[in-house]
Amino acid sequence: MTHDHRLARERMVKNQLIPRGITDERVLKAMGKIQRHLFVDEALAGEAYNDHPLPIGHKQTISQPYIVALMTQALELTGEEKTLEIGTGSGYQTAILAELSKMVYTIERIRPLLIKAKELLERLNYKNIKFKAFDGTLGWKEHAPYDAIMVTAGAPRLPKPLLEQMADGGRMVIPIGNKYSQDLIKVTRIKDSYKQENLGGCRFVDLIGVHGWKD
Ligand code: SAM
Repeated sequence: MTHDHRLARERMVKNQLIPRGITDERVLKAMGKIQRHLFVDEALAGEAYNDHPLPIGHKQTISQPYIVALMTQALELTGEEKTLEIGTGSGYQTAILAELSKMVYTIERIRPLLIKAKELLERLNYKNIKFKAFDGTLGWKEHAPYDAIMVTAGAPRLPKPLLEQMADGGRMVIPIGNKYSQDLIKVTRIKDSYKQENLGGCRFVDLIGVHGWKD
């Protein structure tokens, strides 16, 4: 018998997200709706709503639910945005962004991960996502500027092309630090100035590319 893990999802929202300060109703609703267990290996489905990241193959991970919610909330999405995501991974975060934005452009450097995520998201009937296998540290110039940019891998510094591709008033969330620990940085662009806020410590896999870590 299949079941959709609805209770586990409700518990995740109630116990992991709300008590830690996730207040954006749209984010809570999306996290309560998206079937996170579909984005992990079947053998891990029973752990999908637990309070930690999980492996998705190719030495990569699907982020902890709270981190997904925290980063999404920081983007202040209203439904009108053009959003760029770097690091598609399993596609789980992509689905959350697609629920909350007008259009999502997502880039992943590991092609088999991108293909798997694309197939799943198409099966789930998302029509507002465009996919690309590429080095996301270079952004996706063709569709810039972006109202929101989410980077789901840790970078040594802010990648210049991503700053350039932010819209006036746009927000970007990105983990910045060394290979072992990072701070979650929120950047807000006002014309040519970039305000930075530290949302707290985190630990991500490496952002690998021209404006990230070397392979
Ligand atoms: N958000 C994903 C999810 O919900 O499953 C998790 C992403 S995982 C923590 C980080 C991803 O970033 C990995 O899949 C990795 O291959 C990818 N990545 C690393 N460097 C990249 C780059 N320069 N461009 C695009 N993707 C990159």
